[in-house]
Amino acid sequence: MIDYKDLNLKQLSEALRRRDFSAVELAEAVLDRIDRQEIRIGAYITLTRETAMEQAGRVDQLLAKDLTLPPLAGIPGALKDNIATRGILTTNASRMTENFIPPYDAFVWRLLRQQEMVLLGKLNMDEFAMGHSTESSAFHPTHNPYDLERVPGGSSGGSAAAVASGEACFSLGSDTGGSIRQPAALCGLVGLRPTYGLVSRRGVTAFASSLDQVGPLTRTVRDNAMVLDAIAVRDIKDVHSVGNQGTSYADAFADRPAKGVIGWPESYFKSDDLDPQVRSHLEAALKFYESEGMRILPVDLRTLDASLAAYYIISSAEGFSAMNRYDGIHYGYRSQDNESLEAIYTHSRTEALGAEVKQRILLGCFVLSEENYHDYFWKAAQARALVIKEFEEVFQRCDALLTPVTATPAWPLGTLPEESGGGKYSNDRFTLPASLTGMPALSVPVGLTKEGLPVGMQLMGKRFSEHSLYRLAALYEDAHGLIPAPPEVSK
Ligand code: GLN
Repeated sequence: MIDYKDLNLKQLSEALRRRDFSAVELAEAVLDRIDRQEIRIGAYITLTRETAMEQAGRVDQLLAKDLTLPPLAGIPGALKDNIATRGILTTNASRMTENFIPPYDAFVWRLLRQQEMVLLGKLNMDEFAMGHSTESSAFHPTHNPYDLERVPGGSSGGSAAAVASGEACFSLGSDTGGSIRQPAALCGLVGLRPTYGLVSRRGVTAFASSLDQVGPLTRTVRDNAMVLDAIAVRDIKDVHSVGNQGTSYADAFADRPAKGVIGWPESYFKSDDLDPQVRSHLEAALKFYESEGMRILPVDLRTLDASLAAYYIISSAEGFSAMNRYDGIHYGYRSQDNESLEAIYTHSRTEALGAEVKQRILLGCFVLSEENYHDYFWKAAQARALVIKEFEEVFQRCDALLTPVTATPAWPLGTLPEESGGGKYSNDRFTLPASLTGMPALSVPVGLTKEGLPVGMQLMGKRFSEHSLYRLAALYEDAHGLIPAPPEVSK
């Protein structure tokens, strides 16, 4: 069996072209690993073994003709299960859509298919992407490869666990309020939330349309850029889509990062729930950048708490609207043996949706209701404008910001992260400002805790600054190497 696990995407691509191994052998090796480990990891909802083998076979035929193929041709990857794949089950990890076989492809999947990527399957997630631990999946939890008793983060927990455990060479997740960056940090991966509009949302199940973005989860920074190159393409059928207007992201690494200014928001490091080991890893990262000639500038950001409130109000309001279509009539699960239309609506949603989703629907309905709209939704929209203004100002003085991704490393399954009174959602507050402002943010592994759990840093930049975020991250990665892989999983 070939050993693909320590090869990055570029090396895999070159090895396929040199015929060190075939695309079929590579796909078999990854599927074999899935067969050995998946029972303990639980990253997938659906495995597309046959499609994968067919696609790999086709790539081998193309390679045999010496054709020039796109960079991701023959590379086995997987998609979060809210990305529509024609003819392949797309469940959103919900009973509501557990039998949904889309008659269309999401634009991002179409792009990856054109690259001749090999699709291994569809990945577990929190139901309708609402959550931060993948435990709200209607099907099963996913386990963190670094400690099987702990959560992988969420909502793209399957996307993170699959790549970290070698059950996929890369994956796509979606990030509304942190769902790529947070699981990437908890599973020791590089995860990018692209600038809003860089990647098409068409065919990706909407959670909150003004916040949703698709992005890559990978082991290395350069792998991440390579996948982004494939998906940052303008889609004329997504009104917000602009695509990459500049040079290839994979080419970003030719230049060293400019000796710029890295902003360090002191308020983000003051919270008493910030785990001391997370704090010390991040302080070491700041020192590293300083030693590389960057200027570290303490900045005063005051909107973190407001972001937390504004995000949950806005995302729930938009989530409530998006979920209206699943009424048991138009789409999704229909409750049987009901006597009235009203009863079909009520029972379909009661039976097929989990507690987390119901909570968001209720909150969204509440904040949009006539009597509450002004006090909640309107205020949240104003707060969002303030957050945007604050970040626009800060990025006039700094090239990037360095912040925590999460306050703590991965926490045990079945429990909540430790928090300091901010409620169950406060552990992932650091990822919310980039979501509200539409700015890109990259989660980069910076080390392991004494217990062997990954810690990530978040690099944020102004809109469309992905090239420079990648350069900064690569500077760190090149100097420190990758963090140790998780322990091997035995059956
Ligand atoms: N944890 C956040 C939430 O539950 C973010 C989810 C997401 O980005 N999809 O809303």
